[in-house]
Amino acid sequence: MADVDLFVIGAGSGGVACARRAAHYGARVAIAEAGRIGGTCVLRGCVPKKLMHLGGHFRELFRAARGYGWRLGEPRLDFEALLEARNAEIARLNRVYVDMLASAGVRLLHGRARIIGRTGDGFRVEVDGVELSADKVLVAVGARPSLPEIPGLQHAVTSDELLEEVYPLPRRLAVVGAGYIGVELASILRALGSEVTLVFRGEEPLRGFDHELRREVAAALAGAGVRLLAQARPERIVPVEGGFVLETSKEALETDRVLLATGRRPIPNTSGIGLESLGIRLAADGSIPVDAGYRTAVQGLFAVGDCTDHAGHGLDAAQHDLTPVAIAEGRAVAELLFNANPTTVNYETVPTAVFSLPQAAAVGLPQQRAEALGRRVKIFRTRFRPMLATLGGGEQRVFMKLVVDAEDDRVLGIHLVGGEAAEIVQGFAVALTCRATKAQFDATVALHPTAAEELVTMWRPVET
Ligand code: NDP
Repeated sequence: MADVDLFVIGAGSGGVACARRAAHYGARVAIAEAGRIGGTCVLRGCVPKKLMHLGGHFRELFRAARGYGWRLGEPRLDFEALLEARNAEIARLNRVYVDMLASAGVRLLHGRARIIGRTGDGFRVEVDGVELSADKVLVAVGARPSLPEIPGLQHAVTSDELLEEVYPLPRRLAVVGAGYIGVELASILRALGSEVTLVFRGEEPLRGFDHELRREVAAALAGAGVRLLAQARPERIVPVEGGFVLETSKEALETDRVLLATGRRPIPNTSGIGLESLGIRLAADGSIPVDAGYRTAVQGLFAVGDCTDHAGHGLDAAQHDLTPVAIAEGRAVAELLFNANPTTVNYETVPTAVFSLPQAAAVGLPQQRAEALGRRVKIFRTRFRPMLATLGGGEQRVFMKLVVDAEDDRVLGIHLVGGEAAEIVQGFAVALTCRATKAQFDATVALHPTAAEELVTMWRPVET
């Protein structure tokens, strides 16, 4: 008999979810992690980012407070105190993860795991000199920042450093890349007080999102004081007295820090762990091809999360490199292997949010994607001033858009910018998963006064 039923490589969101669910069903599980437990989301992603987002949100609240009768002194940010408090919370969560694994009976091994061979249908896995045999192996090793090959790269930082380390607030920050990370950190650091320039090669930030949402986000960023340098490519980073110059194809920017937010990819995490010697052919970006049950080309070897191509699912894989997707995939593997319950992850209605200030969030199809798929659509759209601003002042606007199938009335996509966009979209994602129609939205009584009620009170399409 093998030492364990399941060996999980990588204790991030997907790996931990699978290990715990498998142990719940009675499987003997070991999990290996080379770094701290918790993965990108907990240690240097979603959680520290959201804490900084919340910290940045106070700027708007302090400003609005006057209109509501509050008399405050001049607010002053102790940025390093925010980062220290953030890191203390991450350390607490890290301990929670370790305890959760222990109480589930999962054996935790610290070190980089390597699959070193086969034992019959199973595998031999080695972690820092400890060798175990396992019936099944799950690879959930995540991804790393992918950096453009430009001279002076070593002078830049990535989100890993900005979200893990404690550093003084940069007076000037240049952010390269306008995907999730670039937009979020540009906007958050701006709210916390930095002068930020967002450098990106497209015409608008957030490629892949609905085109109108992208425009709204660009306008909101500019309104918040982020300088947008569109259609510009990074060319070189040169250290100068007191900072750096980021040379771009458009202009040279003087800055204190350069953040490269140019995507993430599975390499180098997927290399050197024994996959190639088992006969697995990694894709060009290092991702592991898997089928709809997260099986790799080798029987008994599974993979989930950012290190995979997400079951070859149609959309840009990066749009599924999200913590809850990895968790859902990890649980699906445990259900399949140890509960005889094959489940599938619904990739069509994965809600997603960009935690900029203001937030943007979406679920379902962007208009341009629905049209590219041959759908005839009706568009419902509204823009309004959020209630907080009525007494609080400010230029904020909320943007909401519904993409509806003109043939069968199904709501195909919801796109929001402003207010609590992420909270609203999470709720409405259930409706889209249930394939709700516009008529069912119309039949839902509004909850007044909220921003979300606008989603059930838009009754005339603006485009058909
Ligand atoms: P994204 O893929 O979202 O964005 C990458 C950005 O970098 C794009 O603007 C891209 O431009 C640009 N870029 C890529 N290569 C180059 C290059 N060589 N030169 C110049 N620009 C370049 O990646 P992120 O790093 O923002 O985030 C990584 C992943 O992490 C995301 O895919 C997401 O899944 C996840 N994430 C999710 C969050 C959330 O759910 N809120 C938050 C943060 C991350 P172009 O568009 O032109 O290709």
